[in-house]
Formats: sequence, structure tokens, C-alpha cells
Amino acid sequence: MNTQDRKLRAVKLPKDWAPSGWRNLTALQQPTYPDAAALEGVLEELRALPPLVTSWEILALKQQLADAQEGKRFLLQGGDCAETFDACTPDVISNRLKVLLQMSLVLVHGMRKPVVRVGRFAGQYAKPRSADMETIDGVSLPSYRGDLVNAPEFTEAARVPDPRRMIKGHARSAMTMNFVRSLIDGGFADLHHPEYWNLGWVGHSPLADEYRHMVAAIGDAVRFMETLSGQEVHNLNRVDFYTSHEALLLPYEESQTRQVPRHWGWFNLSTHYPWIGMRTAALDGAHTEYFRGIRNPIAVKVGPSVEPDQLLKLMDVLNPEDEPGRLTFIHRMGAKAIAEKLPPLLNAVQRDGRRVLWVCDPMHGNTEATSNGYKTRRFRNIRSELEDAFELHAAAGTRLGGVHLELTGEDVTECLGGARELTESDLERAYHSTVDPRLNYEQALEVAMLIVRKQAQ
Ligand code: PEP
Ligand code: MN
Repeated sequence: MNTQDRKLRAVKLPKDWAPSGWRNLTALQQPTYPDAAALEGVLEELRALPPLVTSWEILALKQQLADAQEGKRFLLQGGDCAETFDACTPDVISNRLKVLLQMSLVLVHGMRKPVVRVGRFAGQYAKPRSADMETIDGVSLPSYRGDLVNAPEFTEAARVPDPRRMIKGHARSAMTMNFVRSLIDGGFADLHHPEYWNLGWVGHSPLADEYRHMVAAIGDAVRFMETLSGQEVHNLNRVDFYTSHEALLLPYEESQTRQVPRHWGWFNLSTHYPWIGMRTAALDGAHTEYFRGIRNPIAVKVGPSVEPDQLLKLMDVLNPEDEPGRLTFIHRMGAKAIAEKLPPLLNAVQRDGRRVLWVCDPMHGNTEATSNGYKTRRFRNIRSELEDAFELHAAAGTRLGGVHLELTGEDVTECLGGARELTESDLERAYHSTVDPRLNYEQALEVAMLIVRKQAQ
């Protein structure tokens, strides 16, 4: 056992577990592949490919999440609802990174604590859907389940699940991660140069002044420290960035589940921090079975129908040893339901005494359809759920340790409201999401600013 392992508590290996054990249980939200031999061939190829992340990084993140549980760090997790293969481009990747870096700058400055940065990217390619089939003008076809499974066009050929998409998804994830790592290693995240992260299209943002003041204040502080110490503060040159995705498509996740020479146990090496979606978090389901055996830090989405008892049982199964940093609950109740649904869960976990990291996703409980047929979210509902979350945690004696957001660095008009007060008629201008509506750059920065204001109260 190495020091990093020893530092975390000695945790027992899960009993009777194998990467393929989920196959004996009901796996929801899985495609039906038409050709079993083709699927097996792809999985064999995937099992032989190099991993996307390492166990060292995974355990380092777990330690940071353990710190977040104790209030020493705050988690910022964000990115697209669904990445697409077409949007694996330098601009989309670097713009998303810029927004996340700017948001984390706002949070670090305002909260006076380090931020754990986690992207919903480099693998966020599989989507749960509310129905298996989609019907348009009397024609029914299998639903689009994300680029890892099929294509969004409404044609029969596009909607057939194609296992080779998993190979492409693995490669696109590797390219995304490679570019992010290179940008960061090359100094893109350097606090001496926050101007690298400016996005052209927001020159006249109503928030720009507040942001610029903050950057100037940080610049002064950095220069002051450097003058004082007589040398450049080098650890400001780079930041850690981790990846996450919903580990929905179990054959793919199984193929990336590996043992490594220097750490015991099994790791999902397709991402640092996988999560179980709300629709697949059944206690006796295949996803819970798969997740209990991997050593990654893991998260579970918790919706308004979850009862306190269910949550405690999930803790028994997913973190039986009460390992620090292991388990995150991401609540996504909706602005209307949070005040009623969240407190019983917080109280139950609080009474139980075992540790979890509580994170608020103020997006997924606030999705609605507009009269002109767009799926959208109102900024004021997002804001209200987030503000309530801080207050409800404070009242329960628990701690909100992070946020989970759907956002993009592109100039999209998908969510209503925000500083520029987008209206229903703005939606058609730049609605690009294939699944859920995302915060654009300005709206995302506004969320970061409101978090800072709220937690300072
Ligand atoms: C998502 O995060 O895109 C998602 C589908 O969330 P949830 O499982 O919370 O509905
Ligand atoms: Mn979504």
C-alpha cells in the first residue's frame, strides 16, 4: 500500500463484486444493440485501449472532495448536458474551460477557499430519456440516447444504436482531455493572466465591471505577495481540473474498469468522478451494483421522490466504510419542491452521522416547455433553488459543499432571464443544445456571483 492509500482510511474490498456483476440485475436506460457479436468486438477493442485518467488522479480528487465535505473546499462541477462528437472543437472546449476558470476565480475570491474544479466533459455522451421511443407526425423511432449510442437526426438509420460509437466516444474524450491538459500545462489557467480567459462576445456585459474589479483586486494581491516574497508565486500558474460524466452506458463503463499495479481494487478509468443519474439510482438496480465496486469518488443525483430511508440505504451500499470523499449526493429538487423535500433528507443524514458531500444541481428540477415549443429554464428559478439550498442546509446544520451546473462558453440563448433578461422570443436566436438548456457564459458567471453573495450572508 502506498502513502496516498494509507492516508485514506483502510477500506475493505466490496464483497462478491466484479465489473460485469451488474449484468445479473435490471439495467435501465440501456440501448438494445441489434448485433451482439459486433458489440462484443467493440468491447474487446475498448478493453485494450489506454485509460483516459489514472488512479493517482482519482485518489487525489477523492482527497479534495473529502476536504470539501469538511468545508475546506467548494466544488464547482459544470459543462454541457450532452457533449456531441461535432462539438469536440478547440473553440467549444477552450470557451467552456474559460467560463469554468472565471467562475472558479469568482468563487475563490469571494469564498476565500480553494475550489475543486470538475468538468461535465470528456465523456458526457450518454443520456437517459423519459421515453424509449419518440413519435413525430405518427412516426415512432427509438429516442436519441446521446452520441455514445445513436445520432439525433430523426431517421431510422440515425437512431439504430451503433456500438462503434463507443470507440469514437472514447477517442473524442481522449482528445478533449488532451487539449484541456495541454492548455492547463501550458499556462492557460495562470492567475497572472486572467485576460486569457476573456470571451470576445461579452465585452458589454452588465456583469463585466464587477468581474473586472475582482480581477484587478486579485492581480494586486498577487503582485503584493510576489513583492513581499521577492519571487513569482509559481503555484498560481496551474490548477487541477478533473472530469466527470453520468456513467449510464454500463457496457462502456465496464470496459474501462481496470485494476492498476500500484493501487488495490478496481477503478473506472474513463473519468475521475462518475455519477448515477436520478432515473437509474434504484437501490437494487444495475447502476448501483456497478458503482459500489469502483474506487472512484462517486455521486448520485437525488430527486424529489427519494425518501430518507432510501438515501441511508444507498449510503450503506455505496459507502459502507464511511470513507471520506467517497460519496456525493447531488440534490435536484426544483425551486418549488426544495423547501419541502430537502430538509427531511438532510436531517436523516445528519442524524445518521456518516459523511457525504452535498451538492446542489439547480438545473434539472426547473426544466419547462415554452409556448413556442422550447425546453428551457428560468434564471429566477435556478437562482431561487440555489439560494434556498444554502438556507436549508444552514437550518439543518449541514453544509452545501458545491454546485452542479449545465453551462457553455458559447453565446447561446437556452435559459430565460439573467442579467440580459432573455425572453421566450430570444430562444430561437441561438438554441443549440441537443438535450437540456444550458446557462450561457454571462448567466454562468452570474450564478458564481450569487453563490458568493449568498454564502457571505
Ligand atoms: C443530467 O445531469 O443531465 C441529468 C439527466 O440529470 P438527472 O439524472 O438529475 O435528471
Ligand atoms: Mn441535463
